[in-house]
Amino acid sequence: MGTLLRDNQRAAVYRWERGLPDGRAFPTIPECQTFIDEVWEEWGTGSPPTARTIGGYRAWASRWEIDLPEPTRFERYLLHEITHSLQHCDLDITCHGPTFASMYVFLLEEYGVITSAQHEKERGYLQRPRKVRFL
Ligand SMILES: [Zn+2]
Repeated sequence: MGTLLRDNQRAAVYRWERGLPDGRAFPTIPECQTFIDEVWEEWGTGSPPTARTIGGYRAWASRWEIDLPEPTRFERYLLHEITHSLQHCDLDITCHGPTFASMYVFLLEEYGVITSAQHEKERGYLQRPRKVRFL
């Protein structure tokens, strides 16, 4: 069962997104929350996740909470984590698979962080040693 459940695209997604623009900055947690609410209003159902910070180094998300250390308070990190919340990634450990990558790149284009989803998908396909798979 290991192969189906491993989050085996995570490293490829991380490498790919290093080349993305950061987008707008949201320096404070309330500003992050405002952006989360705006995205959630459009694409989510039920209550939006709550932005918080517990002092770690990495952003992290569940359906209900998004942890945002200061260096991650930019549009692209928020959209990454919001995508996890939208997809209830705490229930599915293959959090960075094709469904994730497709929704993430869609939102990046929708909010103007990137200008072409197709271009970014093509860049994702070039990742080594693994390419990023999209739907
Ligand atoms: Zn992630």
